[in-house]
Amino acid sequence: MRNRAMTMVEVLSVTAILALLSALMYPIIRGQIGRAKVAQCVSKLRQVHTAIMLYRENQSETVPYGYSDEMGLPPQAMYTLVQGGYLTREDVTCSLGYYPGPGKPGVFHVFWSPRELGSAAQQWLRYVQSRKEKAVLVTDMNHDPASSIMSSYEEHLGIGVYLDGHVSVYRKTGLMYHPSWWDDLGGDE
Ligand SMILES: [Zn+2]
Repeated sequence: MRNRAMTMVEVLSVTAILALLSALMYPIIRGQIGRAKVAQCVSKLRQVHTAIMLYRENQSETVPYGYSDEMGLPPQAMYTLVQGGYLTREDVTCSLGYYPGPGKPGVFHVFWSPRELGSAAQQWLRYVQSRKEKAVLVTDMNHDPASSIMSSYEEHLGIGVYLDGHVSVYRKTGLMYHPSWWDDLGGDE
């Protein structure tokens, strides 16, 4: 009888230890998966940048900072690059991207807009002329599906590639749709 009681205690201890271990390991494993996915999106954005620069080289007469068409940036952005054979559909999607909805595989977000869009195109013009090489081009808008992109007080995980090819990763609050969210170049990758 005494032996059986000891066994029960042992079983309970082992169970408790296992539960504790898995509780300790869970965030570590989750963190590692998270980091691997961020690294994947970082490398995809680098590829996207290379494709944009190739596309740009194939355009005649481009200006360094102007309307997106003047700069030789692809109209309809990711779609044009895929149609033109610069990238595959897989290259322009992130497993945790924002579009079409939070937590679903989504296409990277582009900040420039065609001249026909009027005020949006003018905003881009002002933005790129002030930020120059530090203007954000393409972003993995909200890599963390746990937060809503519409919320300015929740923390978001964003990855962006800039005109100069530099990639930054940020985790912070605020409105990601505003280019200024991407201005602080503290998140170097
Ligand atoms: Zn991502």
